[in-house]
Amino acid sequence: MSTLRSYTLNSCQFINESSKLRSAVTGQPEGMDRFPVNVTEAVCLGASLTISGLCYYLYKKSRTTVHKLDDAPHFTIDGKLKDILKVTPGACLEYAVIEGAVEPVGEPLMSHFQKEIVGVLQKFMLREHRLVWNSLSRSWTDSERVMHQRVNAVPFVLVGSDETTVKVLCPLQASGQHMEITHEKFHQVNYGLGDIVGQYLSGEKLKGQLETEEMLKVGTALTGVGELILDTDGTLCLRPPSNGSQYFLSSADFDTLRGEQESTAVCWKALAIASAVVGAAVLFWVGRRYYYRLKVRWEQEQERREFERLQDETPRTRTSVMGLDASQNGVEENVENACVICLYRPRNCILLDCGHVCCCHSCYQALPHRRCPICRQQISRVVPLYHV
Ligand SMILES: [Zn+2]
Ligand SMILES: [Zn+2]
Repeated sequence: MSTLRSYTLNSCQFINESSKLRSAVTGQPEGMDRFPVNVTEAVCLGASLTISGLCYYLYKKSRTTVHKLDDAPHFTIDGKLKDILKVTPGACLEYAVIEGAVEPVGEPLMSHFQKEIVGVLQKFMLREHRLVWNSLSRSWTDSERVMHQRVNAVPFVLVGSDETTVKVLCPLQASGQHMEITHEKFHQVNYGLGDIVGQYLSGEKLKGQLETEEMLKVGTALTGVGELILDTDGTLCLRPPSNGSQYFLSSADFDTLRGEQESTAVCWKALAIASAVVGAAVLFWVGRRYYYRLKVRWEQEQERREFERLQDETPRTRTSVMGLDASQNGVEENVENACVICLYRPRNCILLDCGHVCCCHSCYQALPHRRCPICRQQISRVVPLYHV
């Protein structure tokens, strides 16, 4: 008798412990339905929202640049430009477009490689190209490193139709394609057998060095977009805008420059939309799983109610399914008749179609699959068990 009682007590403890263990393993508070987002989904969602936000910001920025370019007045470089600036308040046009040919103020720069080429800006670069073994994609990927870079500049002006000139200030701060490649040479590396073995061991292959020289040549027709001012000494100057607008120097004409900005804006917009769609898809996926989980719960609840209804409807005696607070005989009978899963509650349901009577209704509902724990046959229906 005392052994029986302690056995029952231990089973109770076991159930308590196991539910604590389950909540500890899943990190889920007992009886609470947490929104089911796993780490990968949370990372995907966070990343797509961040990328989408960033792309939207860049899209807005390029869109603003396009609007500013549309609003900027165009001027031809001639004698009238000085008169216009003289009557402008502060002798300054905040954002204007001018076009003219590049002329150096003093001595021009000479190309290191082709002596006949002269320019006003010169950029020399030495880049090292390597192949690096990528263990993730299991392939060699190209990697580039700038080993040396030198920029030379001399003061220059843009010359218009008559001999009027506009001095270009801070040309290195300008964006837009205005340099031309004047020299490009790839110095290949030759290897011995030992080097090749070393490369495969280290996972890095040196391909060679690329030597380039870019120049803004004298005589290039340049489109400049920036702040136009008339200096106190009477020189016209183009400089980076003080209102935060983008400064442009481009060898293409204005329409091409505007078109490039517009396509950049379109690209950012497409990227923003694409990453927002990815985010929405992840949210939809999580929502769908949450919906199915709720649905399964709801169906279980319905099934439980139906089971209880069937139990209540039948006017039969059910001494052995009353639980543990039965008489001494009842307890003995219960333990003999205990559910094979919890070993605690009495078996009270018949699994159909196999007909096995092996578990209590709570354990039946907790089964991971609707299969009989004894014979693995699919469970199509469950009916209450009655003892008469
Ligand atoms: Zn059970
Ligand atoms: Zn069965």
